[in-house]
Amino acid sequence: GSGAGKAPEDNGDAMSGNPYAELVSRLRAAWLSGKTRPMEYRLAQLEGLGRFLDEKKQDILEATTADMRKPPFEVEVSELSICRSELNHTLNNLGAWMKDKHVEKNWATQLDSAFIRKDPYGVVLIIGPWNYPINLLLVPLIGAIAAGNCVVMKPSEITRNVERLVAEMLPRYLDEDCFAVVTAGVEETTRLLENKFDYIFFTGSPSVGRIVMTAAAKHLTPVTLELGGKNPCYVCDSCNVQNTARRVAWGRFFNAGQTCVAPDYVLCSAEMQEKLLPALREAITEFYGPNPRESPDFGRIVGDRQFQRVQALLHSGHTAIGGQTDAEERYIAPTVLVEVQQDDPIMQEEIFGPILPILTVASVDDAIAFINARERPLVLYVFSSRKEVMKRVLERTSSGGFCANDTIMHMTIPSLPFGGIGMPIPRNGVLREPPQPAEPSTGRVLPGPGGILPRTLPALPSPTAPYPQ
Ligand code: NAD
Repeated sequence: GSGAGKAPEDNGDAMSGNPYAELVSRLRAAWLSGKTRPMEYRLAQLEGLGRFLDEKKQDILEATTADMRKPPFEVEVSELSICRSELNHTLNNLGAWMKDKHVEKNWATQLDSAFIRKDPYGVVLIIGPWNYPINLLLVPLIGAIAAGNCVVMKPSEITRNVERLVAEMLPRYLDEDCFAVVTAGVEETTRLLENKFDYIFFTGSPSVGRIVMTAAAKHLTPVTLELGGKNPCYVCDSCNVQNTARRVAWGRFFNAGQTCVAPDYVLCSAEMQEKLLPALREAITEFYGPNPRESPDFGRIVGDRQFQRVQALLHSGHTAIGGQTDAEERYIAPTVLVEVQQDDPIMQEEIFGPILPILTVASVDDAIAFINARERPLVLYVFSSRKEVMKRVLERTSSGGFCANDTIMHMTIPSLPFGGIGMPIPRNGVLREPPQPAEPSTGRVLPGPGGILPRTLPALPSPTAPYPQ
C-alpha cells in the first residue's frame, strides 16, 4: 500500500485500471502546488529523515538481522552511517546547491541576466534492492528531497522486515502529501512502472534494469540505473601482503559478499598467490574466528534461491580456503578458490556471495588485457606499492570507480560521484543475456479482487514523535 499501508485507488483516468494511478496523480498535484520548492521545506523533510534514522535505529538493526542476519557493526557502517553522512553533506551544502549559477555572457547580452537554475524533476520513483535495503533506498531519497521532488519509494520485497519497517514508519517522519512507500513484488512493480514518472532511480540487477529502462522509455522518463559489478582486483607483487589480504577479505566477505562494489576476483602472479593464500587465511580467522558459522560478524545469504545460485559457483576451480555450506541457515563460509579458469561459471556472472576466486596473470599488462577484454567494471581495485603500477592500470582501463590499496572505502566519501559505465559489454560486442535464475523470480504477489493489489502490512506501533502532523 502507499503511505502507511493504504491501498491506492483506481481513479479511472488515462491510467484506467492502474492501481497506482491515483497515488501518482496525488503526488504530482502536490508537486505542482510548489510546496516542495522552498529550502525550509526540504530541510524539514531531511531532518525528519534524520529523526527516522535515530529513533528507529533499534528497529532497523532488528529488521536487518531478521532478514539476513546482518552483523550490527555492518549495519552501522554500511547503512546508518552512510545515510547520516549523506544527510549531513546535503544539509551542509543545500543552500549552495540551490543557488542560481550566473554564467558568462556575450557582447549582445551584457545587460541581461543569464543563469542556470536547478529545477526539481517532479515525481520521482526510487526502486531499491535487498542487499543494503536502507542505504540504497534512503541515499537516493536524500538527493530527491534535496532537489525538491515528490517521491514514490519501492523497497525490495525480498528483505521483508525492512520493507515493512520502511512502509509503516518512514512516511510518519515525512510529509505524506509528497512521499509514499509502495510495497510491491514483481507484478505490482510492473504495474507501478506503467505510470509516468519524471525520473526513475533504480538499483538492482542488469536484467531488471533493462525492464525498468524499457518501461521508462514509453514515457521518455530519464533514469539512473545502478547495476551490478564484477569488480577485478589486481594485486601487484610489490604490495604489502598482510594489508592487502585483510582489505580484500574485508571487502569480499562484508555482508556475506552481497555487495555491488565488492572485489569480485583477484588477478595476481603465481608467486603472489602463494603469499596471499596464508595471509587471507589468517585475515579470515582474525575477522570471523576458526569457525565463521559461529561468528556474530559474518552474515547469511538473503534467500534460498540466491543461496542455490551462489553455492553452485563453488564448483569452479579448487577450494583453497572455506567451502563449507549449510542450506538451512543459508550459510556459505568465506571461501577462496584457486586454479579458476576464465570460462568457469564463476567468471561468467557477478558472484554476489562470499567466494573469492584467484586467477593468475603474468604481469600488470596481462591483468590490464584481462580487464579490458571484459565488461567495464563498477569499480576496479589495485594493490601495489608502486605509483607507476596504479597509474598504468588507471590510465589504461575504464571503470565506474577506481580505488588503490583499499576496498569499498571510496563509497564512504559523499563528495565523490558514484556509478558504473553502460551495460556489460562482452568481448565480441554482442549484448549477453544475463544468466537466468533456476526458478522464476520470487517476488511475492497477493492477488486481490479484479487483479493484483498492493499488499497491506500489519501495523507497527506509532513512533513517539510523529512528523509532520
Ligand atoms: P533485482 O534487480 O532483483 O531487484 C531490484 C528491485 O527491482 C527490487 O525492488 C525488486 O522488487 C524489483 N524488481 C525485480 N524484478 C522486477 C521486475 N521484473 N520488474 C520490475 N521490478 C522488479 O536486484 P536485487 O537482487 O535486489 O539486488 C542485487 C543486484 O543489485 C546486484 O546485481 C547488485 O550488484 C545490484 N546492486 C547495485 C548497486 C549499485 O549501486 N550499482 C548497489 C547494490 C546492488
